[in-house]
Amino acid sequence: MSDCCDRHAHLRETDPQLYALIERQIEAESTTLKMIASENYASFSVLEASGSILTNKYCEGYPQARYYEGNEIVDQIEQLAIDRAKSLFGAEHANVQPYSGSPANQAVYRALLEPGDKVMGMPVPAGGHLTHGWKVNFSGRDYRQIPYGPDPETGLLDFGEIRRIARQERPKMIWVGATAYPRALQYDRFAEIAAEVDAYLVADIAHINGLIVAGVHPDPVPYCDVVSSTIHKMLRGPRAGFILSKEEDRFQQKYHSSSKFNLAKRIDRAVFPGLQGGPHMNTIAAMATCFKEADSDAFRRYGAQVAANARRLAEALLSRGYQLAGGGTDTHLLILDFRAAEYTGKDVAQALARAGIIGNFNMVPGDHRKPFVTSGVRLGTPAVTSMGMREAEMEKLAAWIDEVCSNMGSLEQIVPKVRGEVAEFCRQFAIPGIHAAKTAD
Ligand SMILES: *Cc1c(COP(=O)(O)O)cnc(C)c1O
Repeated sequence: MSDCCDRHAHLRETDPQLYALIERQIEAESTTLKMIASENYASFSVLEASGSILTNKYCEGYPQARYYEGNEIVDQIEQLAIDRAKSLFGAEHANVQPYSGSPANQAVYRALLEPGDKVMGMPVPAGGHLTHGWKVNFSGRDYRQIPYGPDPETGLLDFGEIRRIARQERPKMIWVGATAYPRALQYDRFAEIAAEVDAYLVADIAHINGLIVAGVHPDPVPYCDVVSSTIHKMLRGPRAGFILSKEEDRFQQKYHSSSKFNLAKRIDRAVFPGLQGGPHMNTIAAMATCFKEADSDAFRRYGAQVAANARRLAEALLSRGYQLAGGGTDTHLLILDFRAAEYTGKDVAQALARAGIIGNFNMVPGDHRKPFVTSGVRLGTPAVTSMGMREAEMEKLAAWIDEVCSNMGSLEQIVPKVRGEVAEFCRQFAIPGIHAAKTAD
């Protein structure tokens, strides 16, 4: 696959050292299988908007209400991103200024809670995100995490248990979202529980937003007060976050009677001036074009293919005798479960990486190993699907994964062989943002 253009021509002149490092990263990403579930390939258009002169503009505030002059055009750009986000997800309100997913979640806390309030969320080892109340994160230090998570036996969420915890603890907010849960999240059932205890229900769809857009995962928007997300994972946008919400706060009287601002306004005020200064307008422009790309049949086919690929990969591994957390997948990721093996999740993730299959070690439900060792390996299909891979290619991937995992004692022979085959295989595909597309699709 030949490259599209004279890439980074200025950098090559002004900073050959950095240029060479970026070129090496491009080469590495062109010859390995990117199977980290949170990674993807942004399009040339997203990269162009990201790298545009909009990086120069200061525009603290929101469209039509800025603290700087000269924002007639960037107002239109931010409004475009807002309108496209609302339309893509069918949301009443959107804020596109959060610098990333974690700052977006921080703003959600600030808009809904007071320090010390109880928040139900999944701990990191259970598959939750740091910002869902984990102890080393601001969210666990400033708020009280009430943990819930998948059953250690089945690897599945148990709604009887979640309801029992919620009724006992009466949290003010419940997070529904994960970095490592392979099964579909049933927002309707969480909504019943949240309503019973007067808790805000907040979905974090950082990983699965593309599946929701494609209609192959339940949609949180009708059920949740707030939905937060990143845009750089399955949606293939720039590195950033966004927040969707209802306009009105159904608990305004109960929890925020002294505030004159509704829910949407409190979210906006939490982002700016609560947490951030000037929005990154180059990034917001890239978000706008990313939302446009996602609102298409091509993207909906992509999202469905991501899930179909994960399902096929899971079936191919299960048929070879591997264990998967939660028994399989409904999403874009699966977690190989090596609790019974003598080698660890970290051993396997490192062996796979040497063979050109880049994933990450990950805790599995009921894990007896430590978080920096683990018994699991998380693999995702968003990036390989962006390369154009389908079910047939998943069979090949499963065979290579099996070749490495079943030869952990003789990696010296196996790794170079698989590494070579993977590199040759990858070169057959056109990677978005790196190569010119093979087809117009
Ligand atoms: C990735 C992720 C985030 C945070 O994103 P950053 O951009 O890395 O800060 C938040 N929540 C979930 C569930 C995630 O997977």
